[in-house]
Amino acid sequence: MTSLKFLGGCREVGRSGVLLDTGAEKILLDYGLKLSDPEAEDGIGRPEKVGLNLDGVFITHCHLDHSGMVPRLYNRGYQGSTYATATTFDLAKTLWEDSIKIAKMEGREQDFLEDDLKKLERNQRRVAVGQTVPVGNSNVSIYDAGHVPGSSSFLVDTGDKTVLYTGDINTIDTRLMKGTNPNYPDVDVLVMETTYADINHSPRKKLEKEFAEKVKERLAKDGTVIVPSFAIGRSQEMLLVLKEHGIDAPIYLDGMSVEATKKILRYPEFLRYPDELKEAYHDAKTPADDDERKRALEGPSVIVTTAGMLGGGPFAYYIKEIYDEENCSILMTGYQVEGTAGRKLLDTGIYEPEKQGLDVQCYYELFDFSAHCGRKELFDYVKAIDPEKVVAMHGDEAENFISDLKERGYDGVAPSNGEEVQI
Ligand SMILES: [Zn+2]
Ligand SMILES: [Zn+2]
Repeated sequence: MTSLKFLGGCREVGRSGVLLDTGAEKILLDYGLKLSDPEAEDGIGRPEKVGLNLDGVFITHCHLDHSGMVPRLYNRGYQGSTYATATTFDLAKTLWEDSIKIAKMEGREQDFLEDDLKKLERNQRRVAVGQTVPVGNSNVSIYDAGHVPGSSSFLVDTGDKTVLYTGDINTIDTRLMKGTNPNYPDVDVLVMETTYADINHSPRKKLEKEFAEKVKERLAKDGTVIVPSFAIGRSQEMLLVLKEHGIDAPIYLDGMSVEATKKILRYPEFLRYPDELKEAYHDAKTPADDDERKRALEGPSVIVTTAGMLGGGPFAYYIKEIYDEENCSILMTGYQVEGTAGRKLLDTGIYEPEKQGLDVQCYYELFDFSAHCGRKELFDYVKAIDPEKVVAMHGDEAENFISDLKERGYDGVAPSNGEEVQI
């Protein structure tokens, strides 16, 4: 009897982790942490509860809500293999090292150390899209998920059942990547993300155009346009969008986005236009310190920088310089989660990480670029795969999504954290 135990990421976004137990093998699919609350401990997802007796850990992509707890396994003594694409390992390393750095800075007790990352590195098994790897009697096939460079979905064939675990997916083409193609062999159980089960995104091309026009309109005011972006995926996409639309101003790239871009360029197989990205990166200037940042603000310019939700990175420097300049702008490029500095700014006009709070007078607007399927694409995805059963997770609206699917004649469930589903 095969079972799926949900360690987290149920009816919420964050700390995805699913333990697939075939009776013969135990395979852990993703092992992430909750970013808004890294210490979230109802205990379900702790390595002590999961057990270290695993036949393999598979990471769909680098984001910490999927990968953040994996080093913790090695800290607790896990000695087995972790599988992911080379791109995912490379990018996750940046994020893992950053978590250690942040924990040190905040004086928090660390869950894992550099040593654990080394142990992980020794046990990493790099897999590629198109490959199938055996784990005991099961076989795991790797597919491109279209979400961020390196992202994959896993199709596990246990011999008895086929289970597709999507991780985060995007089916539409963006300027950075091609969307995932839901052209799968027979899938019995589809375990899928439902981040935007209640939202339809506007068409990408239209959004890109609106964004580029806004950049041009704001540059005409002679000010700087700050484009806060996630380091992995969004920053590179923005470089490409700016290039495609012929933005005529110096472009800067700052923060962790610089290292992420260098790494992403090593894996052209995940990119739609690798040569264009290479050019856009070489054309962009990368400020090395606050003096250079100050110079970047001197004339009309566009600065693509972390943090994507405004809570740190060089953005924290830039906003102090421009918040009261009406000709300057902040164009956000992704959803701003509740509780973040970006959400607070949109809701109140105040930038809060500063002790006093800055009363922001410059122009600001949110452009809803997303690396996830919207509602329509999620339904189309299920329809294309046509599984026996859908298990919805990684979304606040997972239960509603399942009710809607049931109305369309599908069988499905939206488990809660800690629940075990027999398949
Ligand atoms: Zn993700
Ligand atoms: Zn995610």
